[in-house]
Amino acid sequence: MGEYKLASKEKLNQNTIIKIKDTLIGEGYCTIIAGPCAIESRDNYLEIAQILKEIGVDMLRGGAFKPRTSPYSFQGMGKEGLQIIYEAKMLTNLPAVTEVLDVRDIDYVYKYCDIIQIGSRNMQNFSLLKEVGKIDKPVIVKRGLSATIDEWLLAAEYVLNMGNEQVILCERGIRTFETLTRNTVDIGAVSLIKELSHLPILVDPSHATGKRSIIKPVAKAALAAGADGIMVEVHQKPEDALSDGSQSLTPKEYKSLYLELTKFSHLENKQIN
Ligand code: PEP
Ligand code: MN
Repeated sequence: MGEYKLASKEKLNQNTIIKIKDTLIGEGYCTIIAGPCAIESRDNYLEIAQILKEIGVDMLRGGAFKPRTSPYSFQGMGKEGLQIIYEAKMLTNLPAVTEVLDVRDIDYVYKYCDIIQIGSRNMQNFSLLKEVGKIDKPVIVKRGLSATIDEWLLAAEYVLNMGNEQVILCERGIRTFETLTRNTVDIGAVSLIKELSHLPILVDPSHATGKRSIIKPVAKAALAAGADGIMVEVHQKPEDALSDGSQSLTPKEYKSLYLELTKFSHLENKQIN
């Protein structure tokens, strides 16, 4: 077992609950984060932010810096995207999360967002982890594509060890031999993390499956396994999305998911924010 002294359950006798404005993330709550994979244009993003606000959501998501497998794929709107997410925050009065890919962009992302996301591909970018460990905003550490639970907790430990106590884990599926799903969602890891660590843990059923049709049951399974919330991709027109359309819900599907999770979270003794 890894030496995650600060992330371990033994360190604290109560689970960490992170507060962002009126939203709580951690034990006893079901926090729902939603938004498109990437910010694609100002109009689209402001529109989806308002749609989500009307349906019900705790926090917005949207990538401005996208870690794409191919250098020829859409790379995100960069700093312009961050200004758009900031505008959406102001318009909806909702907090927002966005990914940082590069230490040189941390100040900028810090200024415009409430939570900083370390994506799967950067889970072992130790210099990036150390830098976000110096800031006073929460950090989501997504599980690496092929990371063991130990490696993942040690990545969180890097952030905690630099003094940032506001770390949230996010299971987003791991690579296996399976090809019909984009990744294999590790539900057992969620329950085990709850035993091992005091940190809040979310599940991202979009990246974990790659398939919008199975997002709802996987989201429910995540909550049943002990997850403290969900981060899901939603797009007005998934077929036109510049990234991850196949795993993005339409607003109508999101509404159905939201209503279902609201009911289901009560059964799991989790409060909707
Ligand atoms: C994302 O959430 O936008 C993302 C790129 O996810 P992951 O790092 O889990 O692939
Ligand atoms: Mn995505």
